[in-house]
Amino acid sequence: MTLDTDWVRAWMTAAAAAIGEHKQELNTLDREIGDGDHGENMDRGVRAAVTALDGLPEGSNPGAAFRSIAMTLISTVGGASGPLYGTAFLKAAEPAGAADEIDGATLVAMLRAARDGIVSRGKAEPGDKTMVDAWTPAVDAAAAAQEGGASPHDILVAAADAAEQGAVATEPLVARKGRASYLGERSAGHRDPGAQSTALLLRAAAEVTG
Ligand code: ADP
Ligand code: MG
Ligand code: MG
Repeated sequence: MTLDTDWVRAWMTAAAAAIGEHKQELNTLDREIGDGDHGENMDRGVRAAVTALDGLPEGSNPGAAFRSIAMTLISTVGGASGPLYGTAFLKAAEPAGAADEIDGATLVAMLRAARDGIVSRGKAEPGDKTMVDAWTPAVDAAAAAQEGGASPHDILVAAADAAEQGAVATEPLVARKGRASYLGERSAGHRDPGAQSTALLLRAAAEVTG
């Protein structure tokens, strides 16, 4: 599949399905170490993003599609994760430029820009038990795959696999950022909901990329 604007639409449609399917699971993770709304927040946001993409002018490029997703997530997700995911998509649009199609090297640059945007906005470091703990291994795995000559599909599979492992690896961690940090040591033993939603988004991207 060509990584064009229709691909961005297919991704968000698949992401909305995946987040919808796992909404209660994300709420439950967030109930354990936060306020229980992460599934609701993400479900509302990605469904609104699908609608926003439907309304994009004919001929819009992927960068414009990413900016549309960003604005929609910022205005609909709310909480801590809305501005963070919004920043991620906004920053990812930059390497995409005005191109009509995204190649493997650009894809990796976009993933890296997304992760860097989240870090500069939220100031979390790896190990702080946040979505950064899914994004960082995802970017590293994507870059390694791309350097090894992998296709965009295989780059995204590597990213999704690493994000899932990163999400699982948040379980023993003590949270140092976000609501979960209020629990201190008691945050250990639970998976970070934002790391889990990151894994779902990246898995959806891999699945729609043939
Ligand atoms: P809220 O905590 O405001 O209810 P959400 O429940 O939607 O927001 O999102 C919580 C998720 O946001 C966390 O699981 C974590 O992954 C992420 N998060 C919170 N603060 C930060 C931060 N400073 N940097 C990166 N991610 C963060
Ligand atoms: Mg919450
Ligand atoms: Mg909240």
